[in-house]
Amino acid sequence: MTLNPLMTNTTDTVFSDLIASQGYVIADGAMGTQLFAAGLDSGNPPEAWNVDHPTKIQAVHQAYLQAGSDMILTNSFGANSFRLKLHNLHNKTLELNEAAAHNARKAADEESERNGRPVLVAGSMGPTGELLSPLGEMTVSACEEAYARQAEGLAAGGADLLWVETMSDLNEVMAAVSGARMASILPVAVTMSFDTVGRTMMGVTGQMMSQHLKELDLVAIGANCGNQLADTEAAVVQMIAGLGREKSEGETSNDVPSTSTAVIVKANAGIPEWKRTAMVYNGSPEMMAASAHRMLSAGATIIGGCCGTTSEHIRKISSVLKGGEPVPDIPAPISASTPSENTTTTRRRQRRRQRTQNNDLRKRPVVP
Ligand SMILES: [Zn+2]
Repeated sequence: MTLNPLMTNTTDTVFSDLIASQGYVIADGAMGTQLFAAGLDSGNPPEAWNVDHPTKIQAVHQAYLQAGSDMILTNSFGANSFRLKLHNLHNKTLELNEAAAHNARKAADEESERNGRPVLVAGSMGPTGELLSPLGEMTVSACEEAYARQAEGLAAGGADLLWVETMSDLNEVMAAVSGARMASILPVAVTMSFDTVGRTMMGVTGQMMSQHLKELDLVAIGANCGNQLADTEAAVVQMIAGLGREKSEGETSNDVPSTSTAVIVKANAGIPEWKRTAMVYNGSPEMMAASAHRMLSAGATIIGGCCGTTSEHIRKISSVLKGGEPVPDIPAPISASTPSENTTTTRRRQRRRQRTQNNDLRKRPVVP
């Protein structure tokens, strides 16, 4: 039984109610970063912890909810049969996805009951890691089947929507959406990762993504992960334009936009760097909150973080978007991949600010 007070409504309604009442939906931050901090070995699949260490997974969800997330993603990013097969866990696809959704549902329902607010559970479905034929050996139907199986488990465990994320290939996205819809009637959201010179690894831009996906009746599309914050932001702006969601002058965030597809941004915490054996991120909570504010002003309404973001980042994003504290005075990052018109002075100032942020980061433990 669910305790979510708005579960009598559809997920679409909960989304639009949240966006209408507060102007946005705050998603969560990284899961992997938190699990490595909790002792997960980098060679082991995080999805097994849904069954082996459910309370550790629930604790990550709880921390994000306490930080202000309105929506949490299940710990099922790699829980498709292709990826689980690498760990000989493919026969547990249903079980692991159901457990992932159950863990998130439990944390969400407890938060709803405690604070009387709706919390959405999004069933995370990452890429298969395979290439579709003719580039690779995976057929469209095998791909659809893998996502259908995953969606079935996530729906059974209590997910409110399905969240196809960190994708590179539009054809795999189409197969994932189609598979998700074979198995459930839940709304579907899609994010892609613009980590290769402003495009996905397969060459997709934000504009191409919105053009291809806008007829699919998705609840939301957007960008997540990525390599540089500037590229992720640029892709999101392209999508907003592609969907016709730009804000006109005088329009507030509560005005209803022309399309029902919302735009998501869930960027990494700055630029990842290898430090010895660990991946660390240079993005402070202030930097992510400044970015969240820019993206909300541009028209994105579902905002969270990806790799390197912690509950500290989400707390800052939540506080700034709520107006509880001023927007950090951190300028938009300049992309190293797309030439910008910024002056040398701006670049110099940005480098100085970057150095200050790095110094701040060095003072506290950095969790990859
Ligand atoms: Zn990420």
